[in-house]
Amino acid sequence: MLTYTQICIKISIMTDSKEMIKKLGLTPNKALGQNFLIDAEAISRIAALADCQDENVLEIGPGLGALTSVLSEKAKNLLAVEIDRALVGILTDEFADKRSVHLICSDFLKLPSAKISDAFGGEPFTVAANLPYYITSPICMRLIESELPVKRMVLMMQVEAAERFFAAPRDVNYGPLSIVSRYLFDISTELKLSPAAYYPEPSVHSCVLKFKRNGSELPPNFIKILRAAFAMRRKTLRNNMLQLIPKSSVDDVITDAGLLPSARAEELAAADFVRLADSFNRYGNKASEASPTRAE
Ligand code: SAM
Repeated sequence: MLTYTQICIKISIMTDSKEMIKKLGLTPNKALGQNFLIDAEAISRIAALADCQDENVLEIGPGLGALTSVLSEKAKNLLAVEIDRALVGILTDEFADKRSVHLICSDFLKLPSAKISDAFGGEPFTVAANLPYYITSPICMRLIESELPVKRMVLMMQVEAAERFFAAPRDVNYGPLSIVSRYLFDISTELKLSPAAYYPEPSVHSCVLKFKRNGSELPPNFIKILRAAFAMRRKTLRNNMLQLIPKSSVDDVITDAGLLPSARAEELAAADFVRLADSFNRYGNKASEASPTRAE
């Protein structure tokens, strides 16, 4: 049951976003995944989940600033990366008085990690976002592989995209993202939302996942091994690993990890890939001792 104040805030945010779009003559860009969140309760839940009092926060795709505004009340520094120049113009005016808010107009996938790191003086940060759904996986993979000090992530995405994070071996959605994200983070579903929570309404249902860093570290070459192993899903591990290891050693590297060369990546668990990476690293060290020119 919503309180009277919550209802007032809800109505005001709904009117704000829609009014703003109308007043400014904007047409939400479907190709950029512009479905603006107008459910005030969801906005405050995401901000609460981000738990970012006096912390550094990265927001991807701030849009019209509905979430940015709530996050900026708490964050020490907020870096918001938006691809749409027109929206960045609006946000620049909106947050002109907030010195803790930094806006960058860029495709997040092309933004150098150093720019993100510099914005936070190299300190750890939290990510909060209502993601552009068309690039959910590349954004998540980028955040996870980049070695940026991400403490926690609160991400809104399409329900079907969320299934990848919980997929088990042999599931159709199982892949590098499922493995590496669960290896590094404890992941939970915190919120489910219907299309009515957005303007314009998308044709899909959404949810909010929370990713909490669990302290694990990836062994060297883990991502490289994972990408190679899944390069052609229907191929055997042996055939896929031939991209990285010569024919003469490939079976040894795989069997030293306690795996069968005829296995397929989609059947293997994270622990199998950790052993495969360890075996690959041992082999790499031996190869570089024998022939320095082949060292990585
Ligand atoms: N955060 C706002 C909200 O909740 O109402 C908007 C979310 S909307 C689902 C996604 C936002 O991401 C849009 O503002 C869109 O312009 C932006 N966007 C799309 N592709 C992007 C990219 N490659 N890099 C940065 N922002 C992007």
